Amino acid sequence: MHPPRTFILGRRVGVDVLTAVVDRSGRGGTRKVKAAFEDVAARYAEHGLRVSWPVSAEIVSMAIMGATKSQDSSHTLFVSVRAVESGLLDGLIAHEMGHMLRTESGHASHNAEVFRALSREVRIPRAAEGAFSAAFNHIQDIYADDYAFLVFSTDGDDRAYEFFSQWIEGNASMRGRNRWKNVGLAATNGFALGNLLRHGRLSRDDPLWERAHAFDREAGFEAVAALADFYAKLPEDPSPETFVTQVNTLATVMTRAASS
Ligand SMILES: [Zn+2]
Repeated sequence: MHPPRTFILGRRVGVDVLTAVVDRSGRGGTRKVKAAFEDVAARYAEHGLRVSWPVSAEIVSMAIMGATKSQDSSHTLFVSVRAVESGLLDGLIAHEMGHMLRTESGHASHNAEVFRALSREVRIPRAAEGAFSAAFNHIQDIYADDYAFLVFSTDGDDRAYEFFSQWIEGNASMRGRNRWKNVGLAATNGFALGNLLRHGRLSRDDPLWERAHAFDREAGFEAVAALADFYAKLPEDPSPETFVTQVNTLATVMTRAASS
């Protein structure tokens, strides 16, 4: 048995924050997730950042790489089988932990009170809801990644660049006839470029720009430059009012593209 003193110290450094890893996929990987979680948590701790609510992790089969659900002062981390079986597990956990840190600190982008203000003050057409909610999630992703970039892809490697350039390649084949769906994909391209730009990982003459412009051209609008600029320049720690204004700016850029 550990003496109580040791236990308290352990809590304080965040060792016990991961309460469980459950494999719902039947494909295994619980130890791998636990090890990656602890490694990323230790890297965050070097920057003075610690998740303090308890986290339970679940390995699930799903289309997206991962997700976090936070409520009642605890987090559930969903990790896809694909993330466990790829080399991207630590990047995914760094990203999801970024969401957890933003939620715990009540950052405007991850704050239930601000969400209520948004639902009152941001008006979007019904047809735009899917595209807009994806674009809004990317605002949250920017703020999660402002943390994740501190601990992931730091040593001059280009994993982030490779990861996001694949998004832009993938979106090229997903373009369809629905205008709003295409605007939503353009927002994803804008996020991918803007995120890299924000962290100094993309030059202005990178070939990815042309790929993203070609997407817009073929869809019949021109939005990616404005969208990338929007995501790249989101203020670090906006007040609720500033944040609402930012979200309205995004709605305006997307509506303009959809109706052009
Ligand atoms: Zn995310």
